[in-house]
Amino acid sequence: MFGLIGHLTSLEHAQAAARDMGYPEYADEGLDFWCSAPPLMLDQEITVKSLTGQVIKGRYVESCFLPEMLATRRIKAATRKIINAMAHAQKHGIDITALGGFSSIIFENFNLKQIERIRNIRLEFQRFTTGNTHTAYIICRQVEQASAKLGIDLSKATIAVCGATGDIGSAVCRWMNAHTDVQDLLLIARDRERLNALQTELGRGRILGLDEALPQADIVVWVASMPKGVEIDAESLKKPCLLIDGGYPKNLDTKVQAPGVYVLKGGIVEHSLDIDWPLMQLVNMDAPGRQLFACFAESMLLEFEKWHTNFSWGRNQITVEKMEKSGAFRSSMASNRS
Ligand code: NDP
Repeated sequence: MFGLIGHLTSLEHAQAAARDMGYPEYADEGLDFWCSAPPLMLDQEITVKSLTGQVIKGRYVESCFLPEMLATRRIKAATRKIINAMAHAQKHGIDITALGGFSSIIFENFNLKQIERIRNIRLEFQRFTTGNTHTAYIICRQVEQASAKLGIDLSKATIAVCGATGDIGSAVCRWMNAHTDVQDLLLIARDRERLNALQTELGRGRILGLDEALPQADIVVWVASMPKGVEIDAESLKKPCLLIDGGYPKNLDTKVQAPGVYVLKGGIVEHSLDIDWPLMQLVNMDAPGRQLFACFAESMLLEFEKWHTNFSWGRNQITVEKMEKSGAFRSSMASNRS
């Protein structure tokens, strides 16, 4: 059994989802209500079938975390949401659970691994995976495929990674460095020390501020942990420019529209058969029956493989080999079983 721990993107989103999911009594509740709400496991079991008939089952756990909790410094509430959702998943016997969106970021940033026990449950961290390896792999493949389609030659291209020092961002940089002949890498984040360490590790890359980097980039990968999207001036971008938005909530404001600017939702995968679930409709996926976040897909791949282990864990430890492995899981599912 696989599990998915997720959350909605804002209070407004949570209120609309409560209405849509048949909980109208919660639709007008404010942030305080969500801060005190316990995790909720949806009743409906998720069934995922491959083309050759292998079937896996899973459950979704809504943590009731909202990004506004971080923005308003309700840190205790935010951390409680994640750890309680993990305990809830484990209590229900789930073998491998993905920590979606901000769940893994909160787990890492607030060092939740030191909390080993929740009431009578001793957390077994090997039952959880951040899903970041597969997310980074999918984003890199999107860069390679979409740039080829747009006629952007990587060997002449500059890629800017916003959130470069993060778990996903650093993996994207490692892949671009090892797997492509990209001409230039621009590294964007706020903490200078971590930027320097990444630059040393890669042996390349220019550290720039966002405003300086964007006009130079042919491709921009957004994987910053931003509770709200940012507005950017499309006029300042190169044409063509490929923007891959891998954040959840999305880092880019939907208004980034200009001729020659191509915005792609990043870190999204498409299954070959429909999955009967309401979840992806709630997050406005273009094809909600088949598309899902790559981090969720990682726990499904691990369940298909019966690899009940924390494949992605810790911060900035994603290797190119692991990304290739997650890609191999995906293709073995497509060629042998699906
Ligand atoms: P991390 O916390 O590990 O890294 C976040 C990065 O963003 C760091 O480099 C951080 O550096 C940088 N950052 C944060 N705020 C800013 C800012 N205002 N300006 C510039 N840089 C900033 O996060 P992850 O790598 O785990 O996740 C990245 C994003 O991907 C998140 O939005 C997450 O929700 C999303 N995600 C998407 C998935 C999917 O399936 N599509 C799966 C998992 C995550 P610094 O603090 O120094 O600025």
